[in-house]
Amino acid sequence: MAGRIPQHFIDELIARADIVEVIGARVPLKKAGREYKANCPFHDEKTPSFTVSPDKQFFHCFGCGAHGTALGFLIDYDHADFVEAVEELASIVGIEVPREENATADRRSLDLFDVMDKASAFYYEQLKHDRRAQAYLRRRNVSGETARDYRIGYAPDSWDAILRQLGDGEHKRQQLVDTGLTMRRDDGREYDRFRDRVIFPIRDARGRTVGFGGRVLDKGEPKYLNSPETVLFHKGKELYGLFEARRALRQIDRLLVVEGYMDVVALAEHGVRYAVATLGTATTPEHLKRLFRVCPEVIFCFDGDQAGRKAAWRALENALGELREGRQIRFLFLPDGEDPDSMIGSEGREAFELRLSGATPLSEFLLQTLCTQTDLDSVDGRARLAELARPLLGRVPEGIYKDLLVDHLATAVGMPGERLTTHLAVAKDSPRRRTANPSATRPARSSLLRRAITLLMHHPKAAAGLDYDNQLETLEIRGIGIFLELLEECKNAPNISTAMVLERWRGRPEMDALARLAAQESLVSDEAAARELQDTIAKMVEESRPRLKTAQLLEKAADGTISEEEKSELQNLLSRRTGTAQPGTK
Ligand SMILES: [Zn+2]
Repeated sequence: MAGRIPQHFIDELIARADIVEVIGARVPLKKAGREYKANCPFHDEKTPSFTVSPDKQFFHCFGCGAHGTALGFLIDYDHADFVEAVEELASIVGIEVPREENATADRRSLDLFDVMDKASAFYYEQLKHDRRAQAYLRRRNVSGETARDYRIGYAPDSWDAILRQLGDGEHKRQQLVDTGLTMRRDDGREYDRFRDRVIFPIRDARGRTVGFGGRVLDKGEPKYLNSPETVLFHKGKELYGLFEARRALRQIDRLLVVEGYMDVVALAEHGVRYAVATLGTATTPEHLKRLFRVCPEVIFCFDGDQAGRKAAWRALENALGELREGRQIRFLFLPDGEDPDSMIGSEGREAFELRLSGATPLSEFLLQTLCTQTDLDSVDGRARLAELARPLLGRVPEGIYKDLLVDHLATAVGMPGERLTTHLAVAKDSPRRRTANPSATRPARSSLLRRAITLLMHHPKAAAGLDYDNQLETLEIRGIGIFLELLEECKNAPNISTAMVLERWRGRPEMDALARLAAQESLVSDEAAARELQDTIAKMVEESRPRLKTAQLLEKAADGTISEEEKSELQNLLSRRTGTAQPGTK
């Protein structure tokens, strides 16, 4: 979606917008020095740790780690998607979002939304005329009111019901294919995708129908059928029931993730209006981002059997990258053979919600699962547990949450937290050390580079006066490419701000790490930053020189073109490097 709005417009938008005004209109801000403070709108707190920097055009919460630009704030606070946030910010600033490049594509999507809406109305209407479908819903204890809230419908037992209803002319028939409502055979004829099924419209954040789920009435295969991926519908992004939950509840404290639409509807029927379902996929990080935009707590509900535990573990793995202070993820395992529908039906809302309150925290589930794979009574077992936890913890963003998680694990392993951290860190490096090519050209990790990127994130204007020729490009430092790209960006835009830099990286995997660097405190003035940046670059070049030279000489040695003088230089260089393997062991 980001590509649809030209980057130069985002630049202009960020340059014109004032983050203090944008946030100030939603959260009462107090001036504190050069910055503004407030009680964080993203987590519960009594003393303000939410900071807005007009210089950087960036907000950051020291409590929960929330951070971002004015656009990011609108996305998080208003639960908007990127395009919506751009439109909102543009209207605050008073400029028009350019649409010329993609006017046709947009127009097309709008038309498709319209088709989906008409289809939804058609299915909804059909339910009123079909006694069998009504009887099915009654049998499942779905009231007329709930059916209306979720706009549940019925697709008639026909090959061309929707085709006849909405497929007037070639253009419209194509639209039906594009939205997945019909399918085209080899001979070019189309037929309805959903036949004799109860229909659950899947709606996006704005309530527009983007897809459908269909369930068979009695027998038949497959039991559940979803719309295919289309321009409008992305399974990895949408959550069934989220729109309805937000419409029904003024404030959402937690969201419950269940498996199917019938679970969502059954729970709503019993007054639990905060359940959502993924659409036949595991929960993706994108899903979790959406959920955490709405509330701070997510509970996954799974069967207690082997398959359920497995699915829960997959959800856990996908969730690790989204963990941070102020967010909570828990797991509820139902007794064998039960699903949320049957469970709440037999024990009622209160008992069910009591179960939710007792759901297992993610840290607990993580530990439990790892413990079943090791013997904690032995030293080896405890070491193995740390080993198993390492790649998982590696995905959790740095911060208070991670520290707590490590502490929790340390207690279980019976090791002081600090020691475990060291253990994890050492263990993290060792396999690389063992397997990496020990030659002198191995790209190094550089704290200098990190410092340089941090300086640039805080003082992007400092790039303008830098002098670095082409020396940097030859450096073999991991991440140097990112730095060079940042430098280019900053150099070419004289009025660039931190927020602008970040917005240019939106949608790329590095954005989060860059935003975290931007969120760090900086006490350096612009001029000092420019000087330090120049210094840091010089040091990076200096630091890499022996490695470059070594690589050059090793190559010569391999070719046999090395002189005696160079040989001794090489030996000198190699002896200075400590604890590495012998040269030439390629
Ligand atoms: Zn916060």
